[in-house]
Amino acid sequence: MLRVGVLGLQGGVEEHISALKSLENVMPVWVRTREDFEGIDGLILPGGESTTLGKLLHRLDLMDFLRDKIASGLPVWGTCAGMILLADQIEGQDETHLKLLHVKVSRNAFGRQLDSFDKLDNIPAVSEQPIRMRFIRAPRIMDWDKEKVEVLYKIDEFPVAVRQGNILATSFHPELVGENQVHQYFVDMIYKI
Ligand code: GLN
Repeated sequence: MLRVGVLGLQGGVEEHISALKSLENVMPVWVRTREDFEGIDGLILPGGESTTLGKLLHRLDLMDFLRDKIASGLPVWGTCAGMILLADQIEGQDETHLKLLHVKVSRNAFGRQLDSFDKLDNIPAVSEQPIRMRFIRAPRIMDWDKEKVEVLYKIDEFPVAVRQGNILATSFHPELVGENQVHQYFVDMIYKI
């Protein structure tokens, strides 16, 4: 049984837990404290609000701890705000968070809450079936390390799904539309790492 954690401080935690529950041989784990990290095989950083999530990680003294875990190989998947938490650079602001993923993100790049949209398309690296993606105040990647970062999916010329070794990041939320294929990809990625 694979234990997959979801960072449960703020944002869309329960939706990821349900998507994980729909997969075979996966036990979702709500992660809030250092102790909760014990025995997890991978971790999802959910969507929410990256500034708030960053503040909470500092307040709970988890920022450096989490960075070290990921830097030493813990498989991690950031969705939306989770991608922003992972990024090296955030356009228009000096404050960054984990600084592990070699990309520059632009926050809210597709507009406001009212501009949210769904897209159904193939992401060949992830699945043979089309994947439903929901974009909500989503970031996009403006620049990236072309050697280290593999682009899995783009909208226009901007990456919205990327992989860098043990790090997966998507601008969109599959978990909000009953979509579990990216979760399956993440589980397979954990097995292979
Ligand atoms: N716009 C949010 C941020 O900048 C992210 C939105 C989301 O996670 N759906 O943190």
